[in-house]
Amino acid sequence: MYRLIKQEGKARRGEFLTPHGMIQMPAFMNVATAGAIKGAVSALDLKELKCQVQLCNTYHLHLRPGDETVRKLGGLHTFTRWNGPILTDSGGFQVFSLAKLRNIKEEGVTFASHIDGHRIFMGPEESMRIQSHLGSTIAMAFDECMENPAEYDYARASCQRTVRWLYRCKEEHDRLNALPDTINPKQMLWGINQGSTYEDLRVGHMREIRKLDLDGYAIGGLAVGEPAEEMYRIIEAVEPEMPVDKPRYLMGVGTPVNILEAVRRGVDIFDCVMPSRNARHGHAFTWEGCRNLMNAKYELDTLPLDPTCDCPVCRNFTRAYIRHLFKSGEMLAMRLCVMHNIYFYNTLLERIRMAIDNGQFEKFYQENVERLGKRI
Ligand SMILES: [Zn+2]
Repeated sequence: MYRLIKQEGKARRGEFLTPHGMIQMPAFMNVATAGAIKGAVSALDLKELKCQVQLCNTYHLHLRPGDETVRKLGGLHTFTRWNGPILTDSGGFQVFSLAKLRNIKEEGVTFASHIDGHRIFMGPEESMRIQSHLGSTIAMAFDECMENPAEYDYARASCQRTVRWLYRCKEEHDRLNALPDTINPKQMLWGINQGSTYEDLRVGHMREIRKLDLDGYAIGGLAVGEPAEEMYRIIEAVEPEMPVDKPRYLMGVGTPVNILEAVRRGVDIFDCVMPSRNARHGHAFTWEGCRNLMNAKYELDTLPLDPTCDCPVCRNFTRAYIRHLFKSGEMLAMRLCVMHNIYFYNTLLERIRMAIDNGQFEKFYQENVERLGKRI
């Protein structure tokens, strides 16, 4: 249940109650694709890193170890030892971005696994069943994630099919939640807005899917290669059509600047692999900009990654040491850098929340938007 506490311009401060605890919004979801944050960071570490909610991938977990296996092991919460909220994506995005030889029909999508090439069928009912087995807090509806730019006629037909798929998702989701042996009988269902970069399709689709009165709504199919300005334009078009009393999730976004811009346009929750992926390449996010530890200038630098950061890494280790670990191919390099970046993202969202609480969001935005986009 979403409660809007305060609003400044379009920026929203709210809280969302789930069966696995409260999420203070705006919030960032830490991406644990196959049940772990890449970079050797466990669910136990996340507690220290201000993580509120974790995202796991339906497609990956369906292929390996298999959602039936996760169900037998008690669901994702028991399996990963993370006891806070977990959102699972629908698998749609990976089916359309990773899988090969896919064939889309009204019933669903047949595709070849990116691991061993075996043929798999996934439609709305399969996606709901997998997510029910995983026992996540929030399940995402199964949708088609189109490439940008998509042909207008194709995009329109795809949106209509995604609406039909959503009705099937809702029906199957209700049925699964009511089964006596369901892991999470209170699993929530969020819908996904599509429509490529066409404002009229986006608005029309949003009006259709909000009729189902789901627990939350996402804007999907963005941050897939189009310029950031296009993304902001689409958010501005869709946002007025999104229910005020439901969380708004911008999928797969983004840089600290993208997040600031989207919060300013009324978005509540985000997920992105960027903090962990960039960290694994030696890029640390800081309040002065993004720092590349591979630069020779850090060889004798005894400061922490960010002197203003009080994460477990910055409280103990120097830039010179972490740089050395990267150069030596030590696993610890990635772990330390990923931990710092996750803490940074969660702290960024925490400061955004504080700024809205204090009626200072616009000031916070003006002070930080340029700095956060710098490369240092
Ligand atoms: Zn730090």
